[in-house]
Amino acid sequence: MSLIDSLPEVRGLLAANVPLEKYTWLRVGGEAEVFFMPKDEADLAHFLSSTPDDISMTVLGAASNILVHDSGVKGVVIKLGGGFSNVSIEGTSVRAGAAALDSKVAKKAALSGVSGLEFYAGIPGTIGGALRMNAGCYGSETKDVLESAVALDRSGRRMVLNLKELQYSYRHSGVSNDLIYTEALFKGLPGDISSINDKISKISNNRNESQPLKEKTGGSTFKNPDKTISKGLSAWELIDAVGGRGLKVGGAQMSNKHCNFMINTGNATASDFEDLGNKIVSKVKKFFGVELEWEIQKIGKF
Ligand SMILES: Cc1cc2nc3c(=O)[nH]c(=O)nc-3n(C[C@H](O)[C@H](O)[C@H](O)COP(=O)(O)OP(=O)(O)OC[C@H]3O[C@@H](n4cnc5c(N)ncnc54)[C@H](O)[C@@H]3O)c2cc1C
Repeated sequence: MSLIDSLPEVRGLLAANVPLEKYTWLRVGGEAEVFFMPKDEADLAHFLSSTPDDISMTVLGAASNILVHDSGVKGVVIKLGGGFSNVSIEGTSVRAGAAALDSKVAKKAALSGVSGLEFYAGIPGTIGGALRMNAGCYGSETKDVLESAVALDRSGRRMVLNLKELQYSYRHSGVSNDLIYTEALFKGLPGDISSINDKISKISNNRNESQPLKEKTGGSTFKNPDKTISKGLSAWELIDAVGGRGLKVGGAQMSNKHCNFMINTGNATASDFEDLGNKIVSKVKKFFGVELEWEIQKIGKF
């Protein structure tokens, strides 16, 4: 029996052998054995509670920080859709579904004069990805503005996690990777609409100048290392110093504009990206003794 035939009936979309490439920013990777887009949280909870624990589940947000293996992903790939994308304002708090784009949250908060969430205008992912990755930029991170997050575990049990329980550190959450976030509650501050919009414009302009936003990219490839180990150098400075800027493997290249970003020059495969990333890791290790850690999440058989 194929996997899809063994899965429970759902109200959302459930399909076998779905190409994932088109869902990802890097535009590479194979198929999901089964692809599930739940209609709403109840649909997702029902699916999780009726699916055996040994079936692997992987969640995709906007896949702006994901590399999908060329051979695809075994098990079920879950992508939250429209039923999880609502954003509402409650005083100076913002409630957002996990599929809402970070930029939508920033814009909605701005329209209501809620400040503190401007940095989300610069991150092209969803709230689910931000909760998992503790996404941040320009000195602010998800952990600075988050009040609580709603998640479902593998058995479909709903839980509300407060900030402390999420155990955030730089681009990392200490809770189980099996949790699927469905919603977040952020705390903002009252602010002046035009100053908030100015801040958002500045962030967008800075991004346009410094990042290859028109390319197929995956954002920062490597986390910034602990500066006490890297003698104060960021990931991009280490990459630049070892001649990584513009380095190519097949169709994958370290961007000339921002050398910690990988880009797909047209015909890259996931294995080109992996080989390129590994080449950078070994060069940096050899010259600086620093072990770069992938920030891009690799899914499938890497
Ligand atoms: C041009 C560009 C610029 C970027 N700039 C920044 C930046 O400044 N700062 C920054 O932090 N990041 C940046 N990124 C990386 C990326 O946008 C963030 O990490 C973002 O938070 C990922 O969100 P996503 O929805 O795309 O998640 P995905 O890339 O789809 O997934 C990332 C991880 O989150 C998990 N995940 C996604 N949704 C859920 C969910 N609902 N429940 C549980 N787990 C989930 C996935 O399984 C995966 O492990 C950039 C990326 C690009 C392409």
